[in-house]
Amino acid sequence: MARINDHYLKLQAGYLFPEISRRINEFTSANPEAAVIRLGIGDVTEPLPPVILKAFHDGVDEQANSASFHGYGPEQGYQWLSEIIIDKAYKPLGVDLKASEVFISDGSKCDCANILDIFALDNVVAIGDPVYPVYNDTNVMVGRTGEADDKGYYQGIVYMPFTAENNFMPALPTEKVDIIYLCFPNNPTGTVASKTELKKWVDYALANDAIIFFDAAYEAFITEADIPHSIYEVEGAEKCAIEFRSFSKTAGFTGIRCALTVVPEALMGTTEAGEKYSFNQLWNRRQCTKFNGVSYPVQKAAAAVYSDEGWEQTKTIIDFYMENARIIREGLTAAGITCYGGVNAPYIWLQTPEGMSSWEFFDKLLNECHVVGTPGSGFGPSGEGYFRLSAFGNRKNVETAVERIKEKWGK
Ligand SMILES: *Cc1c(COP(=O)(O)O)cnc(C)c1O
Repeated sequence: MARINDHYLKLQAGYLFPEISRRINEFTSANPEAAVIRLGIGDVTEPLPPVILKAFHDGVDEQANSASFHGYGPEQGYQWLSEIIIDKAYKPLGVDLKASEVFISDGSKCDCANILDIFALDNVVAIGDPVYPVYNDTNVMVGRTGEADDKGYYQGIVYMPFTAENNFMPALPTEKVDIIYLCFPNNPTGTVASKTELKKWVDYALANDAIIFFDAAYEAFITEADIPHSIYEVEGAEKCAIEFRSFSKTAGFTGIRCALTVVPEALMGTTEAGEKYSFNQLWNRRQCTKFNGVSYPVQKAAAAVYSDEGWEQTKTIIDFYMENARIIREGLTAAGITCYGGVNAPYIWLQTPEGMSSWEFFDKLLNECHVVGTPGSGFGPSGEGYFRLSAFGNRKNVETAVERIKEKWGK
């Protein structure tokens, strides 16, 4: 019989979302008349705007005749898309990239998992806590860790707590690490890093020959002028950072699938023999062997996001979500609940009132307000005592949910 990859057995059961569904089902069976509002999801809810939809349709229509038909495209994505992204999304930040440094893909989730292919297993990895679970679990799957302890921390991984006590900005690791995962604006905490704070991480990475994996999936939701959208806004980051960006949350592409990963040509690692080698070349090799590109109509739709009209329509939807975020944040704050995030990210991370645990608050919110969110402890041990509400959703539902929470806690 073929042997399985035993590392998968170290993974803890995907417990969070099934458990949330179980508790909602139990509640709705007992209370079929209750109008439950779900603010737990990390998925967009608004449809694609017209300009992007038209580009998508046109891309499909081009496949209908031989003159405009497209077969396999470049594994790295069409150069016209990379150039549009460089021009519209990076140049305005003062960041200069070459098309050969931008790799178009079908998602940031897969890219931040697949990137581990080009790194040796003995690299020491540092991960936030609470965290987007993909960073942790993909390291377990490739065999970089031992077993999990009873808190859920895996042997061999360095965990960096993000809590109110450290202003959601952990101290630099005291031990030497080789790979650091950073996500700003952060999921789940909704908090951001200033340029000065990012510079500390870049300086650490440069001084310690470490590489930063920078997940910028939510950069389009930044509303404050001085918050960096890209790690490459920090000097020297092109020598120590890989950046992941996605059209998923930015432009409603969660079901369409398009993302990009920037691997600068200046980014070097060492071979076993101690010679320098380019990560850009390795990633290119990896993608050419294991990936066959994103579909042509999807890339046409992605290009339309950055057309003048496309960006205006995209921005209108982002502003709509961020208005939801404001309503949630201000409503909860008025009810005496301490909230973080929600200014530069579509997530509000709240401190559970009356010292409740994350799950106790989940049950109370469901039973007494008929509102669903996500228990912070589901994102890692340091998320205990916190709770995530998402700004993705319908305005009326957001307003009603906030009214119910205010009635319950606002007195
Ligand atoms: C949603 C999300 C992504 C995007 O993933 P895709 O595969 O591009 O849809 C990446 N990182 C974080 C932290 C996210 O929440």
